[in-house]
Amino acid sequence: MSPPPELSVVVPMYDEVAVVDRLVDAVVAELTSLGRSFELICVDDGSRDGTGERLEERAATLPVLVPLRLSRNFGKEAAMAAGLAAARGAAVILMDADLQHPPDLLPQMLARWDEGYDVVNAVKQDRGREGLLYGLAARLFNRLVGRAVDADLRRSSDYKLLDRQVVDVLNACEERNRFFRGLVAWLGFSVAEVPFVVAERAGGRTKWSTSQLVRYTISTLVSFSSLPLRAIAWLGFLTTAFALLLSIQTLWNWARGAAVDGFTTTILAILIMGGAILVCLGVIAAYLAAIYDEIKARPLFVVRSPRRSRAREAPTQTIQSSPAPSDSPAPGTSPGGR
Ligand code: UDP
Ligand code: MG
Repeated sequence: MSPPPELSVVVPMYDEVAVVDRLVDAVVAELTSLGRSFELICVDDGSRDGTGERLEERAATLPVLVPLRLSRNFGKEAAMAAGLAAARGAAVILMDADLQHPPDLLPQMLARWDEGYDVVNAVKQDRGREGLLYGLAARLFNRLVGRAVDADLRRSSDYKLLDRQVVDVLNACEERNRFFRGLVAWLGFSVAEVPFVVAERAGGRTKWSTSQLVRYTISTLVSFSSLPLRAIAWLGFLTTAFALLLSIQTLWNWARGAAVDGFTTTILAILIMGGAILVCLGVIAAYLAAIYDEIKARPLFVVRSPRRSRAREAPTQTIQSSPAPSDSPAPGTSPGGR
């Protein structure tokens, strides 16, 4: 196996055939001009548009390109985890495939790493173009999760440089419900920031549907904050206090013989309380589901081997997020091995 490169660039890709070539060319040009040794790990997250095939075509003539193909679409978080587990560099850079994370920022990020920082965050100068509702939801989400990890996530992005020691800790994190940005903020280490302006998507379209975003938001909130659970307790306290006051008033009225036949009130009270209890059960169920997911401890992602080397390797091989990258050469890399 060739000696590990100085840098690993990890790019999760899902149906990105429209931008693969531009991304690969831009990153290779940028890093070659800096004269640093590197590998470019493109994680094909179960694309159905030929992204994986295109990556393998390119890798045949471009040895620094390492296509890592997952067995199906596992989602961006799992794709990033797969790339991190396979990366061998002394520093790992994560970026999106759509060139919204400009490769010309790499020299600045590397300069900060050379200064001795362990984590270099590219932070959004502005948030690019996004809808009003989406923007509001994103802000609320970042505020809530940011409070849980005690960091400002409002301008943060997944465009990051991580030193090897940070990557090793991340690889050892076994949680399945991952929120990469939050996890990195939670880890600490010495952090530098480099501002950037979010570009328009270079091609293709965003992969997030509204329902996916809602699910992602809920699972992340659940994995980072117990605020919703505590809110239930507070709701219970408030309701009990209110009920106490109302009972006193009701008894007082009854003692005076002035009790009204409050049919409407009764119906309303039952409906409102019934609704509130069900919502609270829903919140508890979300935590229960998260615990269930963690306890099953299925692998975070499954890497599929390239067809040509099937005879030599197991058909599919699972990688937990835990093993150290050096002793777990990822299957699914270029056919000739590295
Ligand atoms: N992505 C992925 N798996 C998914 C969804 C997205 O690997 O299931 C990748 C996608 O190819 C891109 C990055 O995650 O490189 C960010 O996705 P996108 O640009 O669609 O999100 P946005 O920039 O709109 O937040
Ligand atoms: Mg994007």
